[in-house]
Amino acid sequence: MFGRKRDTAGATIRAYEFGTRPVGDMALASQQLYRRHQLWNQFVEIERDTRAKYRALVATESTQRVAALHEQLEELRQQIRLHKKSAAYEHVLHGKLRSLVEAMQSALADRSPETVAIVKPRLYFADIVSYDGLRERAKQLRQALGVMRAEAKAESRAKAEQLKAEREQLERERTDRVKAAMAASNLYWCNSDDVRASYEVARKRAMREGTELHFHRFDGGGKLSVRYQQGLPVAAAFGTDTRLQIDPIDFSIWESADRAVRRRCWTKARLRIGSNDQRQPVWLTLDCWLDGRPGRHLPMEGTIRAAAVIRRRVGTGFTHRLVLTVEAPLERRDLAVERHGTVGLDVGWRLTADNGLRVAYWSDGTAQGALTLPANMVGLFEKVHDLQSIRGQHFNAAVERLQGYLEEHPGAMWLQEQCRYIAQWRSPGRLIVLLRDWQSDGTDGELLEHLQAWRKKEDHLYSWQANLLDQTAAHRRELYRIFAASLGRYARVAIEEFDLRKVLQKPRPEDGAETPDGHMRTIAAVSVLRSAIENYCRREGVEFVVVPSSGTTRRCHVCQSEQQFDQRSDLVHRCTTCGETWDQDYNAAENIRQFADRPAGDTILPSAKISPEAPEARV
Ligand SMILES: [Zn+2]
Repeated sequence: MFGRKRDTAGATIRAYEFGTRPVGDMALASQQLYRRHQLWNQFVEIERDTRAKYRALVATESTQRVAALHEQLEELRQQIRLHKKSAAYEHVLHGKLRSLVEAMQSALADRSPETVAIVKPRLYFADIVSYDGLRERAKQLRQALGVMRAEAKAESRAKAEQLKAEREQLERERTDRVKAAMAASNLYWCNSDDVRASYEVARKRAMREGTELHFHRFDGGGKLSVRYQQGLPVAAAFGTDTRLQIDPIDFSIWESADRAVRRRCWTKARLRIGSNDQRQPVWLTLDCWLDGRPGRHLPMEGTIRAAAVIRRRVGTGFTHRLVLTVEAPLERRDLAVERHGTVGLDVGWRLTADNGLRVAYWSDGTAQGALTLPANMVGLFEKVHDLQSIRGQHFNAAVERLQGYLEEHPGAMWLQEQCRYIAQWRSPGRLIVLLRDWQSDGTDGELLEHLQAWRKKEDHLYSWQANLLDQTAAHRRELYRIFAASLGRYARVAIEEFDLRKVLQKPRPEDGAETPDGHMRTIAAVSVLRSAIENYCRREGVEFVVVPSSGTTRRCHVCQSEQQFDQRSDLVHRCTTCGETWDQDYNAAENIRQFADRPAGDTILPSAKISPEAPEARV
C-alpha cells in the first residue's frame, strides 16, 4: 500500500497522485508489468516452500495431531457449506421441511414396500436435520484445537531453538533463491527491488499472523516504479534525471487565485522502465495532469523517494495514476494554524432513518455531530450490488443453457472436453475464454449465438458496474477527505484502536448465515475513512491518538458506569445509574475523547474504575 506516511523530525512523507495517460506503445511496459507479476508469484512459491520445510523441521507429535484435527475441522466445514448451499437447507431454515422430514421418517417406520420405495430415495433430506449437530461439532473441535495449538506452538518453538544451524541454512537457501529469481526476472532493477521489498514486508506479516502469501492473478494491471536511495529533489525531477523526468510547467499557475488557471497543468512525464544496449534509459511516456489544487501540488522543497505508475483495470479498460512519494518539511503555514482541544471520533456504520449510512460520530466536549453517507450515494452502491447479482443471474442462465446442450450432444468432443469442470464455474471468466477459443463443430450455431449475446450483455454490465463503483468510491473518498480536513481546527484527534482484519474476517461456516451487515460494511469502508483522517493528521501536524477500544460503547460517559443494552437496536439509551439519556454513538465518541484527555501517567483505563454503585448493581 502506498500513501502511507512516516513521520521524521519535522518532516512528513506523503504520496502525491496525478491523473495520467500513457502515450504511444505500452508493449514494453506491459511486459514489465507481467514480469513483476511473475516475480511476485515466484516469491510466493519460494515462501510456501520454505515455510513447508520449516514446519517439517520443527514438527513434533503435537503439531501432527493438530494438523490431523484441523483436517477434520475443514472436512466438517465443507459439509456445513454444502448444507448451506443446498436449496433444501433454505427450506429447513424457514421451518418448511422439518415437518416433511419427520413425516418421511414415520412413514418409513411402517415399512410398507410402497412407502419405502417412494421415501427412500428422498431420505437424504433427513440428513439436513443433523445440520445443527454439525455446527455444534465444529465449534467443539475449534475449541479443542485452540488449546492443542498453543501447546504445539510452544513445543515447536523449543525445538526450533535447538536447530539454529538448520534454520540458518534454510534462510540462506531462501535468500539465494530470491536473488536468483530477481536476476532471472529480466526486470529493470528498480522494479525487481520494489517487488522484493513488498514480498519481505508481506512475508513477515504472514508469519506473524499465521497465514500464507497468496498468488496473484494477472489482469493486465500493476505497478511500475523507480526508487531513490538518496532521494531526488523535487526540482530535479523537472530536469534530466535518468529515472524520472517531468516537463516543467509554469509553476506560478499553482499559486493563481483563479481555479480555471490552476487547472491548466497538463504536461508530459517519463518514467524509466528499462535500459537499452548503451545502458541508456527506456521510458514510459505519460500525459500527466499536475494537479494544482491547494494542498495537492508538489512541494518544490521536498525530496522524491519513489515514483510509480499504477495501472488499474476498471471494467474492460485501464486507468493510470502517477504516484510520487515525497518527503517534505512541515510547512510553516501548518505549524502556525491555531488548533484547540480534542475531538473524539467513533467510527462504525449504522443505517439512518432516511436510508443514509452513518459512518462516524464526533464530539469535542461542547459540540457534536455525525458523518453520514447520503441516501443517494448508498443507493448508487446498492446499484453496483444489483448489477453484480444481475450479472450472476445471466451467467447462471448461460451456463445452464450450455449444460443442456452438453447433455443433448455427448458427441461434441471439443466442447465436452472444455466444459469438463463446468459444474465448478463460478465466474464469467471461464465462459469468456471458451468463447474466445470456440471451435465450431457445425451443430452448435444456435448455442454460440446465444452465448455471444450473453457475452455482449456481460461486457456492457461489467463496464457499467466497474465504472459506477469507481466513481461512487471516488465520491466517498472525497467526502472522507473533506471531513478529515474539517478536523484541522483541533489540536488532537482521538480514535479507537481498530483491527481491520477483524472487520474483514468472513464469518466461519459454523457461525450461521452472513448478515446483511456485510454489505453495508463494504459501503461504509471505514478503513478508508480512518486512513483519510490519519493521513490528514500526520500531514498537517495534528496529534493523532489511538485509544484502547475496551468499554467505550458500554460505559456511560457521564457517570462511568457499565451499561447493558442492545447495541444494534437501542440507538438512544437512558443510563440506569445516573439517568442521563444519550445517543450511543455520541457516548462512544465522548468516551474516546475523555480517554485521550486523561491526565498523563494515569494508566488506569476508565473502564476499570468502578463507580460506587456498580458493585451492588452486579450482585
Ligand atoms: Zn450514567
